[in-house]
Amino acid sequence: MDIRTLSIASLVTGIMIFAPVGALAELGKDTIKTANGELTIHPINHATFVMTTGDEVVYVDPVGDSGAFAHFDSPDIILITHIHGDHTSAETMMAVSTDTTRIVAPPTVAEKLGEGVPGELAIVANGETFEVGGIRVEAVPAYNLTEERQGFHPQGRDNGYVVTIGGKRIYIAGDTEDIPEMRALENIDAAFVCMNLPYTMTVERAADAVLEFAPRIVYPYHYRGKGGMSDIDRFSEIVASNPDIEVRLLSWY
Ligand code: ZN
Ligand code: ZN
Repeated sequence: MDIRTLSIASLVTGIMIFAPVGALAELGKDTIKTANGELTIHPINHATFVMTTGDEVVYVDPVGDSGAFAHFDSPDIILITHIHGDHTSAETMMAVSTDTTRIVAPPTVAEKLGEGVPGELAIVANGETFEVGGIRVEAVPAYNLTEERQGFHPQGRDNGYVVTIGGKRIYIAGDTEDIPEMRALENIDAAFVCMNLPYTMTVERAADAVLEFAPRIVYPYHYRGKGGMSDIDRFSEIVASNPDIEVRLLSWY
């Protein structure tokens, strides 16, 4: 039985209820087993999510109403990919960061946050790493390839991240197209991949890149664009050509 074809109700009750053909159930959270116990992923909205282990709490691109984070512990680490409003909010950061939070961000984000946000800032550019509490964070490139989109995310400014927790490697794409550095990733256990126009890329390009770097699990995220929601079912269909890659849909919106 492929777990992807089951609805959330069936997972809770054990009753076999199938989601409609072609549609995967959207999960309110998801769990990945690591060498140090379970890693739980909690989608908040669009590009914003929380990852928790037994010991550590990581917020990724926290923006919006801080009430969305009220039932999580304060973050040990906050990862920020870039300066855009759907990824960086000084107001949200003021509310959720604490004096002991490590904030990992590219240089331009530090300027945008300004003074007063509690926490210890670790500025990392593409290719640099940061390690704390058994969690290793590598900043990787995230940028647009298409000429008319390069103003959104110019090369070298923004970060994606490869986060290693309990031996699992989690790729967070940030806002990017299907750049060579993404296609060359190796040994990724779970990948968060963006797909929206005009800011990032089409579902076809995202799926093609995913087939190339072949993560074990892929979470489409950041898929609301100017024209509405990208066709996530189409993305899932294309990726299904490699049965070793599992598409997991979380409830982002
Ligand atoms: Zn952006
Ligand atoms: Zn964005």
